[in-house]
Amino acid sequence: MDKNLSQLFINGDYYKGTEGAKRVLVNPYTEAPEWETTLGSAEDIDLAVKGAQNAFVDGWRDMTPGKRTEILFKLARLIREQLEELARIESTNIGKPISDARDEIALGARIFEYYAGAITLFYGETIPVSKGGLDITLRQPLGVVGAIVPWNFPFPITCWKVAPALAAGNCVVLKPALLSPFTALKLGELAAAAGLPPGVLQVVTGGGSETGSALVNHPLTRKISFTGSTQVGRQIMRQAADGIKRISLELGGKSPNIVFADCNLEEAASSSPMAVYGNAGQDCCARSRVFVEEKVADQFMEIFLEKTKSLNMGAPGAPSTQIGPLISRERRDEVLSYIQSESADHLLLGGKSADRKGFFVEPTVIFQPDLNARVWKEEIFGPVVCIRTFKDEDLMLKEVNDSPYGLSASIWTNDIKRAFRVSRKVESGVVSVNSHSSVHVEAPFGGFKQSGIGRDLGLHALEGYTELKNIYFGL
Ligand code: NAP
Ligand code: MG
Repeated sequence: MDKNLSQLFINGDYYKGTEGAKRVLVNPYTEAPEWETTLGSAEDIDLAVKGAQNAFVDGWRDMTPGKRTEILFKLARLIREQLEELARIESTNIGKPISDARDEIALGARIFEYYAGAITLFYGETIPVSKGGLDITLRQPLGVVGAIVPWNFPFPITCWKVAPALAAGNCVVLKPALLSPFTALKLGELAAAAGLPPGVLQVVTGGGSETGSALVNHPLTRKISFTGSTQVGRQIMRQAADGIKRISLELGGKSPNIVFADCNLEEAASSSPMAVYGNAGQDCCARSRVFVEEKVADQFMEIFLEKTKSLNMGAPGAPSTQIGPLISRERRDEVLSYIQSESADHLLLGGKSADRKGFFVEPTVIFQPDLNARVWKEEIFGPVVCIRTFKDEDLMLKEVNDSPYGLSASIWTNDIKRAFRVSRKVESGVVSVNSHSSVHVEAPFGGFKQSGIGRDLGLHALEGYTELKNIYFGL
């Protein structure tokens, strides 16, 4: 790994940090300590936020939309040119299968392209107020946005916060997850190379409770855009209250996958394993609660189990790998403790760590757990699926919605009325019919209930990175 990546990226260049305290990071596949990252201090955050505020006032907020578009397109091009290198970094750092890492880097580039174009497509209104005169609305940038990102999809989540924030004319101080700092730093470097003025995108690595908290509490951050756990989201919401800071929170999930007997069962059953085991289950949208209609349950289970057994678990760098290790030893042990909390009678497959180095957990299937079981109710964030059968649509929907979360859902049916009816009734920000996709660059993404507040992606995300101003002209 490039030595620079153990530093911070502030005011257009790598910077060793005011204190320069370091933390060693472990490769989740080899279990060897391999890299260092800087633990950004409160002074580093202060330096970064003030630098960003200066960059905002000195020109970024007033730069023409045309010039901003040009820079963001150039950044997208540089990301594409560096795709292999970025994918390799991400894959080794967090154990992500290389083919997934490539897709995620390409997605990041696409997000910058989308918002580079969207800049001039997000505009205000002319309102016929009863007093006469001319009334217009303006969308204006907030100032300095603090972006806090998790380790499961580091690059795309970073891009889907940074790109709309910059497009709208804000400056960003980015705090990547402690365990996945490297592609965020590379983004800072590429943005500078694309012509982004120094200070407009700052990257301060470090832990949540010090570096992250300092960013949330800094008096000059106008908004915190956070993706991570519900627990930390709740804490950020409390901290933001003092300064009435804007927040957007993308939090946890326990997403349902509802399979009706009238669907294309082969397609539903064979696609469902990767809808939960993808990214080793470390996915806020993982379809970890399957509801299958009783009359097709045997057939569904047969295909699901067979498909799961055929999944390729192994070296993150191998092109055929579908499931890599979990991010850390702690994460693996927590996932295993969830599995052990459940009666062995319900365990149909997996349930163990793999017999090799690396923080692997075998894809695990739990059948008919109790409605009150921890594995059924809580987000496990690992390769574990719980499958229950149902007979009655209304009763099933009650169980689906009996969750504090509401992020994503899949519905499998060929009955158009049922598809629409059930889509409306599921309490979830994102619903996918006869598909498991959750994320589209052009469409809003985010949760109901304790899965979050605000939306990432699409034009709606730009609302969250702007203030709405009304201007009246007496004529
Ligand atoms: P996390 O512990 O909440 O961490 C997320 C980020 O917040 C990390 O950068 C973390 O730093 C930082 N952080 C931790 N404590 C903080 C504090 N007190 N103040 C400010 N920042 C703080 O989440 P995670 O364990 O990395 O990720 C798993 C969770 O993310 C799951 O619940 C998952 O569902 C959710 N997630 C949601 C979405 C979505 O779009 N809805 C997407 C992906 C993941 P450290 O790295 O030092 O902990
Ligand atoms: Mg955490």
